[in-house]
Amino acid sequence: MKARFIKEIGTRGFLRIYWDGCTITKIDEEGYKTWQDHHSCPNAYGRGKPGYHNAQIVLGTNEDMIGDSRAFGRVEDYPDERWPKTCDNCGTPVPPDSSPKNLNEAGIKVNRQIFTSRFYDNPSGDPEPGDIYEMDWHPKCDCPYWDNCEGVHLYALLPNGEHWDLNSRASNCTMREERTHRCWVVNGTPPNLTVNKNGHTCAAGAGSIAVPGYHGFLTNGEFVP
Ligand SMILES: [Zn+2]
Ligand SMILES: [Zn+2]
Ligand SMILES: [Zn+2]
Repeated sequence: MKARFIKEIGTRGFLRIYWDGCTITKIDEEGYKTWQDHHSCPNAYGRGKPGYHNAQIVLGTNEDMIGDSRAFGRVEDYPDERWPKTCDNCGTPVPPDSSPKNLNEAGIKVNRQIFTSRFYDNPSGDPEPGDIYEMDWHPKCDCPYWDNCEGVHLYALLPNGEHWDLNSRASNCTMREERTHRCWVVNGTPPNLTVNKNGHTCAAGAGSIAVPGYHGFLTNGEFVP
């Protein structure tokens, strides 16, 4: 599969409601509550597993505000009739909030939020399999992996739909204490990238991408299984 380089050009906003049944299992001396979630949606996030119900509708895209969660205002700015009515993943109607307050009491906790996501310059606006994109995700000198990282990491959405941080540390890195090498050495300019072991690197792997469900190489801008 050919790699495509996509750029973040704005922020997409959603009205989102997520909810679940829950029971208060503990209240400590300070009044802090421990909840047990019931995982009442049989198809959470469309993955066929139990979890939260989720309902969201697109508000639109804001191309003046990039990476700004305030691009769509606050929850209070939107009247009740604007909000989604049923779970996207199982069709259950959004119930009224009945959050429990006392020990061993059960109820339904309903949360409303303005959800925002990065908007990219490809047709769908979201990363698709084969897309490579940059993410400015930590301040300089604050990298969890390296001392010589400026903060921008390259990411790929692999052909199988898994995300991969090209600038992360391999789980089988052989130089755990060393913070200047790269487990995957990235050569070229996006999207024509080749990832291999040609450079300051460790002995992990052969420059291949190995994540759950995908094993392959990125060579001359192409994902090769
Ligand atoms: Zn559901
Ligand atoms: Zn970094
Ligand atoms: Zn390494």
